[in-house]
Amino acid sequence: MLIKNIRLMDPASKRDEIVDILIEDEKIKSIGKNINIEDKDIIDGKNLIISPGFIDVHVHFRDPGQEYKEDLTTGSQAAAAGGYTSVICMANTKPVMDNENLIKDFVKRAKEQIINVYTISSLTKEMKGQELVDMEKVLEAGALAFSDDGIPNTRNDIVLEAMEKVKELDSLISFHEEDPSLNKENGINHGKVAEEMGLYGAPAISEEIMVARDCYFAYKTGAKVNIQHISAAGSLDIIREYKKLGAKVYCEVTPHHFSSTEDLIREKASLAKMNPPLRTEEDRQAIIKALKDGTIDFIATDHAPHSSKEKNQEFTKAPSGIIGLETALGLGITNLVRENKLSLMELLEKLTINPAKLYKLERGRIKKACQQTL
Ligand SMILES: [Zn+2]
Repeated sequence: MLIKNIRLMDPASKRDEIVDILIEDEKIKSIGKNINIEDKDIIDGKNLIISPGFIDVHVHFRDPGQEYKEDLTTGSQAAAAGGYTSVICMANTKPVMDNENLIKDFVKRAKEQIINVYTISSLTKEMKGQELVDMEKVLEAGALAFSDDGIPNTRNDIVLEAMEKVKELDSLISFHEEDPSLNKENGINHGKVAEEMGLYGAPAISEEIMVARDCYFAYKTGAKVNIQHISAAGSLDIIREYKKLGAKVYCEVTPHHFSSTEDLIREKASLAKMNPPLRTEEDRQAIIKALKDGTIDFIATDHAPHSSKEKNQEFTKAPSGIIGLETALGLGITNLVRENKLSLMELLEKLTINPAKLYKLERGRIKKACQQTL
């Protein structure tokens, strides 16, 4: 196959030019100007852009255990439709991904999918926050990192021990940052919309205090930490300072947190319910600024499907979560690139090479396939 006159955008090499790309046996044979070869299927790339496949380090495919919401196959199809070629699944499946047998089974089933599907391991057994998983064994079985996403851990002793351990193992922990003792209701910001609904909600300080703890632990231990789905301006100030101090703290944001605010709940009710919640316009603007200055390293969707029956319950009963794989690029282009907040190259960087580097994936760039040596 020969693609003619396509705009190649590769954030890893910062290459941005019109090229021809020759593909043989599903591999890139050459990239250059005026490649002309007979007997090839020719695709006219004029006005099109080619970039590395996107990488999402935070999805919930609900498999095993809740396949009526999503499974590895439907999740992979949604990812492919949105331009994603690699995703990392969170561990809050049923049963929880907390041992090498479950991880091995996942890795085997993931090979049958149309994209690269990875999993992380939970950090603690059954995600109960009390006892660490056998970290060496789950990594050996193929888990990429650790997270109890969805269930923040307030046991400082366990979290500190975990950080010391991942430092030794050169792995990382991904943290959902909300102190449950400060949230009266999940999924809605403690603010004006919650007040209208007669609810207290989840205050920003619930996130900020946990971010502060984990940044400090990361700084003290040297562990690598990924702060998930950031939502509050105050959290970003903390992360920015710890990055300056040299802490190995990385940060992801979802498309919904850079696109929407708590106002969306008035219109969409429980469809706009997610943890951490959508917050205020000031928070959204702080997120956009942090995407630009590099405090936020990548975009991750937190793709979290539920059935319509579950989501259609009254607000306080409905589960938290929103999907994102098919709309992430569109939201990025609409709310970041067209608003002149990020260049298209900067947006692509946060969808490709940045997540690849942190999770040590040999992906996220476009290059000629390596020469086969016999
Ligand atoms: Zn989460």
